[in-house]
Amino acid sequence: MIIVMSHTASDKEVKAVVERVHEIGLKTELSLGEERTVIGVIGGNAYAYRDAFSHLGGIQEIIPITKPFKLASREFRANNTVVDVGGVKIGNDEVVMMAGPCSVEGEEMLLETARHVAAQGAKVLRGGAFKPRTSPYSFQGLGESALKMMATAREETGLKVVTEVVSPQDVELVARYADILQLGTRNMQNYALLQEAGRSGKPVLLKRGMSSTIEEWLLAAEYVLSQGNRDVILCERGIRTFETATRFTLDLNAVPLVRELSHLPIVVDPSQATGRWSLVRPMSLAAVAGGAHGLIVEVHPTPNQALSDGAQSLDFAAFDRLMSDLRRLLGAMAKQLA
Ligand code: PEP
Ligand code: MN
Repeated sequence: MIIVMSHTASDKEVKAVVERVHEIGLKTELSLGEERTVIGVIGGNAYAYRDAFSHLGGIQEIIPITKPFKLASREFRANNTVVDVGGVKIGNDEVVMMAGPCSVEGEEMLLETARHVAAQGAKVLRGGAFKPRTSPYSFQGLGESALKMMATAREETGLKVVTEVVSPQDVELVARYADILQLGTRNMQNYALLQEAGRSGKPVLLKRGMSSTIEEWLLAAEYVLSQGNRDVILCERGIRTFETATRFTLDLNAVPLVRELSHLPIVVDPSQATGRWSLVRPMSLAAVAGGAHGLIVEVHPTPNQALSDGAQSLDFAAFDRLMSDLRRLLGAMAKQLA
């Protein structure tokens, strides 16, 4: 539930309410708005305790959070969460481009890609070090040496780094190198991994499970948030439907709907969603038109030689075209790239 303090409530009254919540054994999260202070009360059945506050001053109203996800809900926090990744802000009106290879295949190709996407205006470099492949016989990623290459690319280009972590035991290792931990579609309901990422102190990019509902996805975000990590970025990356002409079906409904249901930022991955490089630019534009706070796109110097996801990777020329179209679209929307 949330406790809305009246605009005339004193600091002392706010403090008394917070203390009462803690006495009951629940946790608080304070939002100091310009107009009013809202105290989020966190705990399984918080609303059952509402009468415990009736004798305290300064309270305007006590509102239950009706959604099963609490910390992730728009009811809990009215203002958008802006995740600050070392100065790159995700969740405001500036659209953030994250780009790079599906997998880190070597230092040369990574640096070449990083330099190119940075020069075009990307702010975050993507690249898989641990790859969750459908087949155990497919390329599994270069592991820690790929993480080191990502760190080198960050040093050289100033790009922030996002990379996937696939097991709870690897969270500490990946968090040593990455600026954002990516949790993949195949792990969206790996609760041990969600909790470990929640304790890592790093922002988390949480991909939607390919067969998950939006509610299940927001409940997965709740696992990360409930460990005290507020920095969750949601990522729509396509869901399984009967359609086989594309790799997945990009659920663009999710973008404006998640923005209604949650204060968390949402980005879109049109590469995994479509599986076809030729669809990446149009679907990127559609995602941004629909309100996505950012994009995560696969780019490779020579897509036809890629060790993973070549068919959906943009070459440099296609990436440049995407960036220039994106700038024009954002101009029409009175927005800009971060
Ligand atoms: C990826 O980003 O390369 C990836 C494997 O993503 P997803 O988990 O969405 O399939
Ligand atoms: Mn990929």
